Amino acid sequence: MPLFAPDTVTSLTSLVNLINTGTSPVDGLITVADLAEFLATERFSGFVAGTPAELRDVRQLRRRLTEIWGLEDHAAVPEINSLLRSARALPQLVKHDDWDYHIHATSPDASLSDRLGTEAAMALVDVVRSREWNRLKTCASPECNNVHLDLSRNRSKKFCDSGNCGNRENVRAYRARQAVI
Ligand SMILES: [Zn+2]
Ligand SMILES: [Zn+2]
Repeated sequence: MPLFAPDTVTSLTSLVNLINTGTSPVDGLITVADLAEFLATERFSGFVAGTPAELRDVRQLRRRLTEIWGLEDHAAVPEINSLLRSARALPQLVKHDDWDYHIHATSPDASLSDRLGTEAAMALVDVVRSREWNRLKTCASPECNNVHLDLSRNRSKKFCDSGNCGNRENVRAYRARQAVI
């Protein structure tokens, strides 16, 4: 049995990528073009205004979702519910492009931040209901604030997917061992 439905994993992965645009010294969502590129990479469908106001809303949403990621599940629940309520979420099964059945809980003409927020919230609903909240992690490297989703069998994934952090920590641990000898 997979932990989550495929569309939940897709949404959580997009959520990780959204949060991680804001965790490095160089913000990945500074311009409208940055946002357009993010949406294309995530293959996020629906209306995009391409305005500074929309970008500001998405950046605000990113801050909110980053906070939610770091909460305990019982503290996250009211925040998740509030995201769904404010976007007037109405879950519907849909199929489009080459995606199989998944949930849209907002109409395609809802604002981008409402659509992104609702998609994230619906996925987080699954995580809470499955009692898997501790799979929402922050990178164990002291130099990195990236988040990641731990889908490993024994919940042992410590580092983000940037590819650097695990190696860097291994080298550090190795050198520390050498120093002791
Ligand atoms: Zn869709
Ligand atoms: Zn990292």
